Amino acid sequence: MSAPQPPHIALFPSAGMGHLMPFLRLAAMLAKQDSIVTIITAQPTVSIAESDHISSFLRLNPKINHLELQLTPSFQQADSPPVDPFFLQMHLINQSLHLLPPLLLSSSPPFSAIFVDFLLVAKVAPIAKTLNLPIYILSTSSVPFLSLMAYLPMLALNSVEFNKTSTEVKIPGLPPMAMSSLPPVFHDSSHLLTSIITTNSPALSEAKGILMNTFEWFEASTLAALNKDRVIKNLPPVLPIGPLEPYQVPHDDDQHQYRSWLENQPAESVVYISFGSRTAMSRDQTRELEKGLEKTGWRFFWVLKTSKVDKDDQEDAEHFLNESFLEKTKDKGLVIKGWVEQQEILRHPAIGGFLSHCGWNSVMEGAIHGVPMLAWPQHGDQRLNAQVMEDAGLGLWERNWDWGPNSIVKGEDIEKKIVELMTDEKLRGRAKKVRDEARKAVGRGGTSDVVIRELVDSLTISF
Ligand code: UDP
Ligand code: UDP
Repeated sequence: MSAPQPPHIALFPSAGMGHLMPFLRLAAMLAKQDSIVTIITAQPTVSIAESDHISSFLRLNPKINHLELQLTPSFQQADSPPVDPFFLQMHLINQSLHLLPPLLLSSSPPFSAIFVDFLLVAKVAPIAKTLNLPIYILSTSSVPFLSLMAYLPMLALNSVEFNKTSTEVKIPGLPPMAMSSLPPVFHDSSHLLTSIITTNSPALSEAKGILMNTFEWFEASTLAALNKDRVIKNLPPVLPIGPLEPYQVPHDDDQHQYRSWLENQPAESVVYISFGSRTAMSRDQTRELEKGLEKTGWRFFWVLKTSKVDKDDQEDAEHFLNESFLEKTKDKGLVIKGWVEQQEILRHPAIGGFLSHCGWNSVMEGAIHGVPMLAWPQHGDQRLNAQVMEDAGLGLWERNWDWGPNSIVKGEDIEKKIVELMTDEKLRGRAKKVRDEARKAVGRGGTSDVVIRELVDSLTISF
């Protein structure tokens, strides 16, 4: 009998940094455990951040293979309403999946499994079946949001219950969800994102498992509900493998400025403010945040984003922000426009709080570093994620906060909440407990570690 052969795993994310990041992290983890790994990316990407991260990741992990799925360009009619470029990309990837079988067949050694984004499963599952490849989903969100996406076709059918005027949505086995926490576009079956989700949900049962960037302790009861078939019948095992460990990134000299700034701040004295990779703040809301920050007296590190896609970001921070704000806060605050290494910042002892939109990756990063969070969710999965984050004891969530033309959060409210975030010692203690549990989960023999090792073992080929 010859020695067992390591599995060859294909990983295939959809669009946006929030989706790419967990796939790259899992790819690096699998490669570290001696799997052969191939990452499949759709080209061209929407953002510069995605293309930059793909190339630096491959440079740093020369053993990881890369396959590119070339997308056919889309031509939007001049008079059609604007579509979110990330949703359009998800649609285009789905339209280009006829190109996947030749890519998969071209690879040597042959693949042993494919791990795909939820938003691709309906079309990839039949391809995988023909090639005799087990398929797994890597979910990039929280358990409640996964459950909501899985249950969405049923909700849509029951239009009485899923009426916009109802205050709650009931998904079997889960606590009721506030209707205000659901993305409004879920009521519109013709919306591009809604239709991508409802097309993919019924194919979940084709997967051998759903890998989640979460950990058992953080979402124990909802994980149990899913795994006991209470939410949906025929769901494959839901497998928590997070918080996914960040892969090594090179030190970039451009970023030296903020590294040295952080080094000079006292422990737990800085509020880190970021709304992720694709959420821009309006000028009016920015003014209010400036007022709040100016008044708190706390130090701050603010990653300012003024357009959804980085390619469109033309304005520098000095021009977008109020001159007097910059002058008054120059000794206690830093504003960066552009990409920062968030993991490295959250890990820094100077950081004492995290004002976040609650993108799921950010929640997991807050958890592993035990940084108390103040949730300011904007759209999509973020309100449901904020609820999970608050329930786990990692932070605070002011439910009335929103933003947009009709609802600007006032500077004084922001100030009050930041003070609460930075001075609540009990919260700080609870956040450290979350950190300890997160580290336990990914440590040797921890719940997430065991799941990932068993998965790799099950894919290892014995002769
Ligand atoms: N991120 C980062 N630097 C930035 C902006 C984002 O490192 O300047 C990372 C962040 O740490 C996270 C991911 O990009 O891993 C964003 O994912 P998340 O789910 O938090 O939010 P999204 O960008 O999808 O809204
Ligand atoms: N979403 C949205 N508008 C935006 C960006 C995101 O409505 O400009 C929402 C959308 O409603 C969906 C959610 O984003 O429910 C999921 O998007 P994705 O999975 O890409 O997560 P994100 O990158 O926001 O973490």
